[in-house]
Amino acid sequence: MTERRGGIIGAVADAAREFHRRVTKTKGPIITEPLRIPRDQHPISRSSISQGTLKVLYTLKDAGHEAYMVGGAVRDLLAGIEPKDFDIATSAHPDEIRRLFRSCRLVGRRFLIAHVRMGEEILEVTTFRGPITESHERDETGRILSDNVYGTLEEDAFRRDFSVNALYYDIRDFSIVDFAGGVEDLRQRSLRLIGDPELRYREDPVRMLRAVRIANKLDFSIAPATAEPIHRLAALLREIPPARLFDEVLKLFLSRDAVANLEGLRKYGLFSHLLPLTDEALDAGEPSVEALIHRALVNTAARIVADQAVTPAFLFAAMLWPAYAKRLQHLERKQGHAPPVAQVQAAEEVIAHQQLRIAIPKRFSLPMREIWSLQPRFENRRGPRVKRLLTHPRFRAAYDFLLLRGQSGEPGAAELAEWWTQAQKGSLPPLPQDNEPPPVEAAAPGQAPKKKRRRRGGRGRRKPGDAPGGEQS
Ligand code: ATP
Ligand code: MG
Repeated sequence: MTERRGGIIGAVADAAREFHRRVTKTKGPIITEPLRIPRDQHPISRSSISQGTLKVLYTLKDAGHEAYMVGGAVRDLLAGIEPKDFDIATSAHPDEIRRLFRSCRLVGRRFLIAHVRMGEEILEVTTFRGPITESHERDETGRILSDNVYGTLEEDAFRRDFSVNALYYDIRDFSIVDFAGGVEDLRQRSLRLIGDPELRYREDPVRMLRAVRIANKLDFSIAPATAEPIHRLAALLREIPPARLFDEVLKLFLSRDAVANLEGLRKYGLFSHLLPLTDEALDAGEPSVEALIHRALVNTAARIVADQAVTPAFLFAAMLWPAYAKRLQHLERKQGHAPPVAQVQAAEEVIAHQQLRIAIPKRFSLPMREIWSLQPRFENRRGPRVKRLLTHPRFRAAYDFLLLRGQSGEPGAAELAEWWTQAQKGSLPPLPQDNEPPPVEAAAPGQAPKKKRRRRGGRGRRKPGDAPGGEQS
């Protein structure tokens, strides 16, 4: 794999560089002819392409259409990474695609995409996009709103975001077609937007997130001109529908590069437009808040590397925990709400605030709330409650979350987690000497445990320690 990077790609790129010197004017994508890299000069073999992709490509070709594998798959294969999915670009129009495949669904609002099912695989097949013209509907920031003009292969290439994403694998002769200098950028390990960066970000601000994510995925640097406008334009993310941002955020954080992605997003001022409450919590510089978020991402990455399941519910539970804990503490301490009331309200407020930016579907926000609401129940380690909690359907996720709190240095949480680790093994460990749960109460990340204090009686009465973390100054 690594050999590919230096050796074959190096040789291909030397030819490419020479070629581009001849055909490009100065800079930017003013290339008149594409570079074609024949099969014997690049490392992508059909055995590294999925069966479904090959079938779709051949079916389109046999029906007389142009058909290419494109985008992340070509890029990743050339960079020596296993592709996550395979995208296909074709001259066939959506209705023609639909007629060719038994199982095909057209999706997408801004741009129609055909989802073709081949056995287990679903392939995204898109018709070449045409150039952006005055006729494209835009909003006041320059964002393209509707986009169903079809074009040629060359026009399609210049509509793609980064040069390394605009490489096409031609099923007719297995060559690679490069209109935008992608092969050379791959060699330079540089992520470069095609065309004028500011314009391209304005057309679609999500490209700023993609820049950070793809650069980290490939371990490339973002070309200076591509990086420069990001900070300035970061606020354009507010124009993006929250449902689309949800998808992008998952790609960023349910990823083996989750930590690097967080750092990149913070560096470019993007993160505050995605998870503003988390950004604020990190800005406060509280080591255990940083530790908790960092740990959650490290754990997620490790699970992905080990092929274990990861859930957005857990991710968001961690990301928003500091804000939740702070709000909870405020509602209990400053406004005198009983803990159960405060817990519900804090969760509602934090989630509602977050939903303004990222639409977290209910199927994730509900379990996320449950993970939070089960935290105080870990502190109650007496009698039948222990068993009830151990058999709770959400026990595992909540316990993992408690472990996370412990790992991030939240006072008392590590000891509590250890107790529950033992409890799962069958015999209940002894409780601490004074028979009181440890004072995890209101131990929001980083805070010293709160001293016991007297509370008024009534329905909201509890022992110290009944609240999940909750204090932050
Ligand atoms: P990965 O699949 O690893 O997340 P990818 O680059 O393949 O990365 P996809 O979302 O699968 O990302 O997109 C496939 C291709 O479509 C890209 O490689 C790129 O050519 C094009 N593309 C995707 N999003 C955009 C965008 N916002 N602007 C322009 N082109 C895009
Ligand atoms: Mg892809």
